[in-house]
Formats: sequence, structure tokens, C-alpha cells
Amino acid sequence: MTRLAPGENPPQFVIFSFDGAGWHDRWTEFREAAAQVDARFTGFLTGIYLLTDEHRDAYTGPGHPTGKASVSFGGDAATVTTLVGDLNAAYLEGHEIGTHYNGHFCADNPPGGASWSTADWNSELDQFFGFWNGWQEIDGLQGTPPLAIPASEVKGGRTPCLEGSWDQIAPAWAAHGLTYDSSIPGSGIAWPRQEYGVWEFRMQTTSSPTLGSVMAMDYNFWYKFNKAKNEPERAPEIRAAVLETYRHMYDAAFTGNRAPVLVANHFNQWSGNAFNPAAKDFMLETCGRPETICATYQDVIAWMNLQDPAVLAELQARPAVY
Ligand SMILES: [Zn+2]
Repeated sequence: MTRLAPGENPPQFVIFSFDGAGWHDRWTEFREAAAQVDARFTGFLTGIYLLTDEHRDAYTGPGHPTGKASVSFGGDAATVTTLVGDLNAAYLEGHEIGTHYNGHFCADNPPGGASWSTADWNSELDQFFGFWNGWQEIDGLQGTPPLAIPASEVKGGRTPCLEGSWDQIAPAWAAHGLTYDSSIPGSGIAWPRQEYGVWEFRMQTTSSPTLGSVMAMDYNFWYKFNKAKNEPERAPEIRAAVLETYRHMYDAAFTGNRAPVLVANHFNQWSGNAFNPAAKDFMLETCGRPETICATYQDVIAWMNLQDPAVLAELQARPAVY
């Protein structure tokens, strides 16, 4: 990491992130791809993936009955211990683990994040870190290898469905030592700023040559493509459209304001596995390019903190590109 001289162009950062981050095959696939091109990426972990189904009652989502969630719990003991192994291996390779919170409660299963209070968010994060530190005891798996990542390494996250009342969640971020967020819908591709007490990497809207104006996230691409209908036979077409969108975002930023490009995904196999392969194609073809660094959120924050404040202010003042 270097400090830019005034007038010097910053590197083109690309930040790959995956919400949920609880799928062994996907961890393996993306760790292998990242190793080929010297990329680091971020997994936003759904905290209840650390709870076996049998111990689901350790979680109570704000406003919801104990043991309930909008997504699955962690499965059996073998699945949870495999996940812990994946998280440990990813962390040792330089990848980052953040939070996707716990129960994935959104507008479709209210109350969701949009209506939660500060106390609700504090409960959600207290439980996330409680599972992080206490999963072995909760699950009765004391004999297995521990999660070897200090909880203090979790510095940010993405809220489920990008929902939240930001002035309500901000005090919970502060109370849990979080220093960044990447949930708030933004406009184009722009440099992050301090908002709500954290570095806010706003979600990016782009003028995709294949999908039109769209927020750059896998589900949003899918919705734009066919209203998120499951059409596995069209997976190659979707994959190509998404890859072209990522290429467009990269070109717009690289030749424009050089703001970090966010490639925001879930680990998923939606519509015949159309989306994760597009992200992997883009990682493999992009991360080794000149002046390009595929980095984690915390890497980019460290880089921004290293810069002369006047240099950083000039970057932040650059208009968004689309
Ligand atoms: Zn999600």
C-alpha cells in the first residue's frame, strides 16, 4: 500500500463480496479462483449458519418467535464444522469475514430490518457475535476445531435485502465496533464517504449495456432480467449479460473516477446458476490487470486511511460514474 502523490491516479479497486457465505462448494470455488489472480474478497456471514438446526432456539430475531428465521439454520454438525473450516481457511488467505446479520428478516416476513429499532439491531448484532464466540458450546461441539478468527476482525456488513433505518442501525454499528457498511442504496459508482459514523460503501447503480439502469447486485440483475423468474435454460444468457455489466462498471470507473467497483453477490445457484459464474469469470479476467487490485473492504479502508486527506477529498469529490 502506498500513499499517492497529488495528481497520481489511484489503483482501480474491485471489491467482491458474497452475502450468506455459508456454502462449502462456493467457498472452495472462489478461494481457488482468487488464488489464481491474487484477489482477496469478503464473505458476509449469516450468523445462524453457525447454529445447527437442532440448536436453532439459540436465536430469537427481533419481533419474531424463538428458533425462526427467513433462511435456513446451519444444518447438521458436519456442515457447521465444515463452514468453520472454510471461514478459517479464507481468513488465513487474506479474505475478510463480515456480517450479513442473522435471520434475514425483510419486508416479506415482517418485522424486517426496515422497521427495526436500535435496540433490535443491538440484539441482532449481540446474537451474531454470541454465535461467533459461542457456537461450539451452543451446538455441543467443544471437541471440534475452533473458529480461529477474532470477533474483532468483523468490521462491517451488509443488511439483508439492503433494509434498514440508517439512523436506527448506526448506534448499533458503533456499539459493536463496526467501521463500515455496504447496504445503503446509492447512485452510481463513487468513492465511499463517512456516513452514519462509518465508511459507507453505497450500493452502486450502473447503466448496464445489457440490463439497463440497475443496482449492481445479483438479485437485482435477476429481477431486471426476467422479474427473478427461475429460467435455468436461460442461464448462459443471464451469465453473459451480468458479465457484460461488470465489464462496463470496471471500464466506467477505470477510465473515470477510479472509485472502487462493488461486485455484490450471494453464494447462490439461482436460475440454473447464472450469477456466481459471472462473478467468477469477471474475477479471473480482471484481478490480474494492470493498476487493478481486487481487495476486501478493510483493505480499501486501510488504503483510504493512508492517504493525504486532501488527496482523498479530491477523490471523493469526483462525480459518480454509471
Ligand atoms: Zn441476503
